[in-house]
Amino acid sequence: TKYVYAFTEGDRDMKDLLGGKGANLAEMVKLGLPVPPGFTITTDACRAYLAAGESPETLDVEVTSHLRNVEQEMGKRLGDKNDPLLVSVRSGAKFSMPGMMETVLNIGLNDESVQGLAAQSGNERFAWDSYRRLIQMFGKTVQDIDGDKFADILHKLQADKGYSGDLDMTADDLKHLVKEFKKVVKDETGEDFPQDPRKQLDLAVEAVFRSWNTERARLYRRRERIPNDLGTAVNVCTMVFGNMGETSGTGVCFTRDPSTGHSGVYGDYLVNAQGEDVVAGIRNTLSLADLERLDKKSYDELRAIMNKLETHYRDLCDIEFTIQQGKLWMLQTRVGKRTPAAAFRVATQLVDERLITSDEAVTRVTGDQLTSLLFPQFDKNAEKKVLTKGMPASPGAAVGEIVLNNEQAASRVAAGASVILVRRETNPDDLAGMVAASGVLTARGGKTSHAAVVARGMGRCCVVGAEDLAVDEEAGTVHVKPRGVTLKAGDVVAIDGTTGEVFQGEVPVVDSPVMTYITHGLDAALSTGLDADTEELVRAVDRILTQADEKRNLAVRANADTPEDAERARSFEAQGVGLCRTEHMFLGDRRKLIESVILADTAEEQEEAFDALRPLQKGDFVGIFTAMDGLPVTVRLIDPPLHEFLPDLTELSVELAVKAARGEEVTEHEKRVLEAVKANHEQNPMLGLRGVRLGLKIRGLFKLQIRAIAEAAVECKKKGLDPRPEIMVPLIGSERELQIVRDDAERIIGKVEKENGVELDIPIGNMIELPRAALEADHIAAESDFFSFGTNDLTQTTWGFSRDDVEASFFNEYFDYGIFGISPFETIDASGVGQLVETGVTRGRAAKPGLKCGVCGEHGGDPASIHLFDRLGLNYVSCSPFRVPVARLESGRAAI
Ligand code: ADP
Ligand code: MG
Ligand code: MG
Repeated sequence: TKYVYAFTEGDRDMKDLLGGKGANLAEMVKLGLPVPPGFTITTDACRAYLAAGESPETLDVEVTSHLRNVEQEMGKRLGDKNDPLLVSVRSGAKFSMPGMMETVLNIGLNDESVQGLAAQSGNERFAWDSYRRLIQMFGKTVQDIDGDKFADILHKLQADKGYSGDLDMTADDLKHLVKEFKKVVKDETGEDFPQDPRKQLDLAVEAVFRSWNTERARLYRRRERIPNDLGTAVNVCTMVFGNMGETSGTGVCFTRDPSTGHSGVYGDYLVNAQGEDVVAGIRNTLSLADLERLDKKSYDELRAIMNKLETHYRDLCDIEFTIQQGKLWMLQTRVGKRTPAAAFRVATQLVDERLITSDEAVTRVTGDQLTSLLFPQFDKNAEKKVLTKGMPASPGAAVGEIVLNNEQAASRVAAGASVILVRRETNPDDLAGMVAASGVLTARGGKTSHAAVVARGMGRCCVVGAEDLAVDEEAGTVHVKPRGVTLKAGDVVAIDGTTGEVFQGEVPVVDSPVMTYITHGLDAALSTGLDADTEELVRAVDRILTQADEKRNLAVRANADTPEDAERARSFEAQGVGLCRTEHMFLGDRRKLIESVILADTAEEQEEAFDALRPLQKGDFVGIFTAMDGLPVTVRLIDPPLHEFLPDLTELSVELAVKAARGEEVTEHEKRVLEAVKANHEQNPMLGLRGVRLGLKIRGLFKLQIRAIAEAAVECKKKGLDPRPEIMVPLIGSERELQIVRDDAERIIGKVEKENGVELDIPIGNMIELPRAALEADHIAAESDFFSFGTNDLTQTTWGFSRDDVEASFFNEYFDYGIFGISPFETIDASGVGQLVETGVTRGRAAKPGLKCGVCGEHGGDPASIHLFDRLGLNYVSCSPFRVPVARLESGRAAI
């Protein structure tokens, strides 16, 4: 295998091998943009290293020849003592993982070459600044030394000398830092800072490989559903220097505003600074307009490149660049992360600019982005106490208790609180706190700071750079300087990620305009008086959803058990109910009646209880059929084990024992209930008497439900409505089970038709949620009018584990071992459970061509699963009402 590619050898389609950063660097070289020479070590090499615990020997050899090529091109040698070539070692996986992986700059500096660099550049301060950065970054990321060990020394020096920042440090100060930093390395590792440049390079490359498996990298991947086995590529790139004085600098920019989507120029620039300074939020940045004033030539060139990149990628790009003494260099580009609102606006703007088609626009947004636009916002009319204002970095409205670190965040969230993580600035170690928090607030940093980038990626509400805040983690306080207010951890604040405002105390939240649009339609949303940005957003969502609806193959139904749910689903444009559960209809006051069914000694007693239940059931169905008038409603006959309707065995035994011990009388009825509870107790209720098994054991139960459904349909018809019930039998494993229920159902429906002189057309189908049902689908289809895949149970029965028992107990280990990338209850296990779905559909349709097949269960609202269901040719998915818009969009994306 070839392990190393020069930047001149790759292109943007090679992300699997070269990672996102490497592939895009190569693409920029292809476009003729000014990229410093370098090469990319492939993800294959990373996987080989992680598997063997050491680098393959051929990798060393390939690195040598590529390094020599770069040296030749630059006319310098790595770490040469007179005129050293320096390189950066940069990680870059297939999917961008902001801040997750480590980068080391200035590789090649040592005690000798730092002198050479000083002499060559005529800038001693610059050379020593670069060297101290190398030791600091190398120590922290390659040698695992606590970064504070270096930062403390630096801060102490600045404090002692009364400096206000890095720029005040002199060459002598920096020499002093180098000495101190080297001491730290020696103390911490027992060895001197490595002086051999090639050894620095090799160690850094291996450290990048290893960083793939750090705790926070794994956490990020789990959240973002990135597989654990991809590995990262490593880019070795000739250093260019933004820290060479006043005509140098480094910056980050976007071709459009990543939080609004507006076209134009957005960016941060820092004079006389290197790499991470911008992202780390160490100093406050200048804007690109400032750069235009400072260095018009570089600015114009940058603008031209931005335009070229946006045209080439046909999307919003983000860009990292450095200016070395008036010469512009491109260090990175990628299709930029953006807020959900910006994603919709940018997609339709690009359609209007004729850069992409309407179909492509649908693929440029995701269901998750749509979901976050449905979140509530702060009530504009509510009274609010403004504390301060920062920069809006990621939209949303978040209210919660102040927490100052990961531990507080985790413990308060575990206690049920909603929290706002407040920090001076965030770094990758704060990821766990950001995940737990409802919102993130920082005192320092710009829109491209770590907090901003990560929060946007997660769709988390975020305000950054609220400079009035003094955050003291140790004291547990946040002081708001101009107001003289001091808040403590636990105090409630509210942050608005759209305006940047920070409020003290609770602020009420209201529906988002997109939610209003989804519920009441475009005209209604527009009539609420939206500002121009919001109106553009609502129109963009409307255009994209309309296009998705037009293109999708899957119908989208909702799971709804009540008329209210059915109405909500309908307002979200659900095309019917795919799963109406009936068990809740036997709870509450009706539990007593079910109890009588279970306790009944004679058929007559049971009949009485059924007679009492039937009109109640019928009423339930009339409500739902009315709400879904003209659309199908799939009613699932009662599914759960009987004991769910009875008291808990242990509780009841204890209660009665206590009663007896107190000398109180235990009634005959109580004794009978206890007997029944004991008789119905099961070791594995999930695999016990439930679904069709219960229906066959107590035949009257299903019959009662079927009659209620038929009578409800009649009643609706008599009112002039168009009810479309479908009867669904749960937990079928054999065609014979279905045959028996079907016979009963046809007889009952026929009777109801005759009694009322009304004709009914009620399909009778079944759930496929047992592996046997999928395998026997051809036989079952002969008895069935439709299939609905119950993928929750099918996942449980295929894996042989029960969700309630396993998720908390061993899933974390399974993620770590890479057995799942994501819980199979969240995204369908495509290769295992998916195969059974495919088998069920294929065999079912072989026996009965055109057999209607749907999916109910949570997977019906999960984007990745929806894409699989589309591929397998299902007719519809059914999901919770709130997921309906997401399912519409994702089905459209799947079809395009
Ligand atoms: P990340 O993935 O965190 O953005 P990068 O590899 O892009 O990490 O590098 C971190 C910072 O270092 C960026 O600001 C980048 O522009 C800068 N940098 C990386 N390589 C070089 C280089 N060869 N010359 C100058 N700056 C560099
Ligand atoms: Mg970068
Ligand atoms: Mg089920």
